[in-house]
Amino acid sequence: PETITVQELANRMAERATEVIKQLMKLGVMATINQTIDADTAELVVQELGHTIKRVTAADVEEGILGNQDETDEEQQPRPPVVTIMGHVDHGKTSLLDAIRSADVVRGEAGGITQHIGAYQVNLASGNKITFLDTPGHAAFTEMRLRGATVTDIVVLVVAGDDGIMEQTVEAINHAKASEAPIIVAINKMDKPDANADRVRQELLQHELIVEEMGGDIQTVEVSAKTKMGLDKLEEAIMLQAELLELKANANRAAIGAVIEAKLDKGRGSVATVLVQKGTLNVGDIFVTGSEWGRVRAMTNERGQKLKSAGPSLPVEVLGLNGTPSAGDDFIVVENDAKAREIAAYREQKKKDLAAAAAGRGSLEQMLAKL
Ligand code: GDP
Ligand code: MG
Repeated sequence: PETITVQELANRMAERATEVIKQLMKLGVMATINQTIDADTAELVVQELGHTIKRVTAADVEEGILGNQDETDEEQQPRPPVVTIMGHVDHGKTSLLDAIRSADVVRGEAGGITQHIGAYQVNLASGNKITFLDTPGHAAFTEMRLRGATVTDIVVLVVAGDDGIMEQTVEAINHAKASEAPIIVAINKMDKPDANADRVRQELLQHELIVEEMGGDIQTVEVSAKTKMGLDKLEEAIMLQAELLELKANANRAAIGAVIEAKLDKGRGSVATVLVQKGTLNVGDIFVTGSEWGRVRAMTNERGQKLKSAGPSLPVEVLGLNGTPSAGDDFIVVENDAKAREIAAYREQKKKDLAAAAAGRGSLEQMLAKL
């Protein structure tokens, strides 16, 4: 039978829960805020409070999330690629990111202290932009993917030219393959006398990564994060791969994105780094993320600069969440806070149902084990 909690019914009407409880009492129904009532009773309350009745199924709610998605090809504009750097520990991931970042043409002028927000966009001298995800480790990458977020367009695999393929390089290759993102191999530390790029190319072959030099389609670029040799070539390789992928998005719609990182900050409340994937996110927008919702109070980039809006492929730190989402959660702008509450409540309920079902299964298994 169709049911709804008192809280959710109140949310959908943008009424206070106490108002709903009062109306229920008039109808002779005693209910607390978390109790469920049947649809017919709910309709009476809705009428009593002067709202229009519209029965919404769970499917409608999810549908509503995707409701504003009609897009034509003409509305699609090129967007910057989103790149994740992976590789074995100490092969130079951080050094490479730092070297690329220090070449940012806009950064030089703006200065400013860099804060870690898990992602940032680099402005190249060529006028191109590349977004880098800087989440710690392969675990974060997999976690996000498991939550259904496909945020990475291209994986740059860093392999130290003197060390070659190591355990975590293989892990990274497997993660990248599973994500189906194309791989570019940056053979790093080429300033070292014992670096051997050809040996690395040979080793890649053993993991079914056939490099261009051997007739395959995997680009390799020899670099040194230390001397900054080859960084321009790496950027070119990324832009070439991006072109092949024909990365596009409509900037003129309500924003849809993914949470890259989220935390509860003592002074600022819940903050999330959000990668905008479609549309434009604006200060004041109301959103749902996971089973949380909120209104964008402020947005900043990695340099701590305040932004009023953010388009496709731009990562921003968002203030104004009512709770802390998880990395990999979606981030969807909706028309109003009633809708946001409704979707968040629906998702929260679904989460509880799943947990209850899992707990039920667990106890059943325990029972069976005892037999
Ligand atoms: P990560 O663990 O992959 O992030 O590696 P790091 O960026 O922390 O680098 C590990 C070590 O390798 C550090 O001591 C770096 O200074 C050094 N390193 C990184 N890139 C290069 C390079 O291109 N050449 C040389 N000679 N050393 C490098
Ligand atoms: Mg590092």
